[in-house]
Amino acid sequence: MKIWLTSDNVDWDTSRYHYAAEQMMLTLFPLEKPEYPEGPAPTSLVGEHNAVIFTLHRGKKLTNMSALVFRGDRWHNGVVRFPSEKLDETPEAVYHTVQRALKQSFYNAGSALLGHDLPWGSLTGVRPTKLPTRALLAGATPKQAQKELEKTYHVSPFRAQLAVDCAGESVKAVRSLQPDEVSLYIGIPFCPSRCVYCSFISAAVDKCLPLVEPFTEALCREIQATGALLRDTGRAVRTVYMGGGTPTTLSAGQMDRVLSALEAHMDLSRCTEFTVEAGRPDTITPEKLAVLANHKVGRVSVNPQSMEDAVLARMGRPHTGEDIRKAYGQVRSAGQFAVNMDLIAGLPGDSPVGFARSLEEVMALEPENITVHTLALKKGSRLMENPEELPTDEQVENMLNNAWTALRSAGYAPYYLYRQKYMSGSFENVGWAKPGYASLYNIAMMEELHTILALGGGGVTKLVWPGTGKIERVTNPKYPQEYLRDLEKLLKEKAALAGFLRETR
Ligand code: SF4
Repeated sequence: MKIWLTSDNVDWDTSRYHYAAEQMMLTLFPLEKPEYPEGPAPTSLVGEHNAVIFTLHRGKKLTNMSALVFRGDRWHNGVVRFPSEKLDETPEAVYHTVQRALKQSFYNAGSALLGHDLPWGSLTGVRPTKLPTRALLAGATPKQAQKELEKTYHVSPFRAQLAVDCAGESVKAVRSLQPDEVSLYIGIPFCPSRCVYCSFISAAVDKCLPLVEPFTEALCREIQATGALLRDTGRAVRTVYMGGGTPTTLSAGQMDRVLSALEAHMDLSRCTEFTVEAGRPDTITPEKLAVLANHKVGRVSVNPQSMEDAVLARMGRPHTGEDIRKAYGQVRSAGQFAVNMDLIAGLPGDSPVGFARSLEEVMALEPENITVHTLALKKGSRLMENPEELPTDEQVENMLNNAWTALRSAGYAPYYLYRQKYMSGSFENVGWAKPGYASLYNIAMMEELHTILALGGGGVTKLVWPGTGKIERVTNPKYPQEYLRDLEKLLKEKAALAGFLRETR
């Protein structure tokens, strides 16, 4: 799609807005690629079939942003106005105003040409909850926050309500987190085998069994070093999340050593939530669950993704729905865990009826949390090669809509949500919780509410600057081999975070 950004009376750095234009273009017309022809925008687009001309024009009181979109043999002009005095604010404020107007004008024209609205309207980001959270913190009522999403950003009422519900939980999290607190993410990059849709950093354990023991040793060293760093900088751990991969790929003894290292080197006295993902039922044993129960683990995630045996087989999972039920029973009899269960809408071979059946079976087990993901087609997953095996967008929407109605009537409420790139149909992942069981780690991580330090394989440390919302990222090595090779360098990088941790306490 050819893109021009022009103005007859405003001096703007148009290259700063390419990203916003491309995000909106991909949301409206996912198969397009951006082109920026040289020279001024043409005065006539006769003969062009795929183009957008943005024009920014400052008037005395109001400034217009128009997006003239050509698609096939049709065109539409979307216009958004804002007070001209907004162009006299700080450069950052001007950037946000113009960027918002650009996206909305493009959306208005594009959705008119498509003939329908999109589920998230003109919102293109991964975190649609951020806007209503900001509105609620500024004193808006939930109704006002919802109205803003619907009127200004054209979000569907269904999704606007979802976002505002989640924003309510974010506000509670903001008020509960203390300035000196951080959370920990511990990545265990091993799985018993690889699922077809997976693009995570996980090594099938049968291929790299010899690496698991040295990885465990190295992780304990990183835990010790991070514990010293937190002590020296006066930081407390508020939540711990062990993910992966599948953490319960570790043996009971290895898991015991990791959890003992955490208790020995970290001050966990203010830790209110400790989650371990036991995602695959083929990794869950009574011995491992006893280890989790003996330490401070209070939340466990058992992730069926589907309860349909045929769907599980097509995912490359060597277990059945019955295995999930057994694993769930073992978790319940091993300790007082809050349990999360993940389902995925849109898996190959699944249908709205099959998905509804999976959800019903999971709800019958009464876990405290259910997380409904939408299949994200990512580069690197085997599914990307055969997308025709997947349910249609309409079917996925049907699965989600029915799931949300069923979850609400069973007493679950949404508490966090996020979107991913390449997500089928521009949908989202939503965490649901029974009252009192919203996961603080999930909210803090997704809404970037405070600093999260990543340890182990594949995690990303996010340093959140209080007040400004500025985020810096430090990536841990992805694969176990790299982690072991780069451990010394990694420990030095961790030690160098001391300045940030002290300054932002
Ligand atoms: S269990 Fe999760 S992390 Fe492991 S291969 Fe399957 S999808 Fe990937």
